[in-house]
Amino acid sequence: MQSDKTAKAKLYVRYPLSSVLIYNGSTVLHYLLGGIGIALGYSFSSWAGYTFGVLYFLLSFLDMYVIMPLAVCPNCVYYRAKNSICISGLNILSKKIAKEGDPKNFPKRAEGLFCPNNLYMASLIVPILAMLPALFLNFSAALLLIFLGVVGLLLFRFFIIFPKLACLHCSAKHQCPQAGAMGVRDL
Ligand code: SF4
Repeated sequence: MQSDKTAKAKLYVRYPLSSVLIYNGSTVLHYLLGGIGIALGYSFSSWAGYTFGVLYFLLSFLDMYVIMPLAVCPNCVYYRAKNSICISGLNILSKKIAKEGDPKNFPKRAEGLFCPNNLYMASLIVPILAMLPALFLNFSAALLLIFLGVVGLLLFRFFIIFPKLACLHCSAKHQCPQAGAMGVRDL
């Protein structure tokens, strides 16, 4: 019998619903707060804040919930595994809107400047970078709270969601570059 120290993390074919809800809830909240923060931060302009806030939300949402299932998920093991649900649940959407890809291409998600991985990371970091100057130009307590909320969501994703909820238990972790970068493959 394996001791607790040598026991490996369980790999999920179907993630628990709670994990899927936490993942998607924090993702949508990040985009929403980011968009509101950009709009509020640049509200001294009659058009810039609203335009860039809405644009940020729409592009981030599109990247996560349309581009990912079209470009990344068809190559993932969760697309092929029967009765599966990945951490985002996007394998189910992908099966409805995209043709099956090639698992050999899955690591390509991290190749190139505008690869899906980099776009995904940009969608999380852009609102923080955009709100920073706005905190000096147009400070308000509400903007500071939103800024801290988005930073908190980013840290929550990096230190709890990725290593403890998502990648640690992912059946694609031996092919996925992100799991390799986080060192969860052998856990
Ligand atoms: S290892 Fe992490 S980033 Fe990679 S597919 Fe799995 S959950 Fe997604």
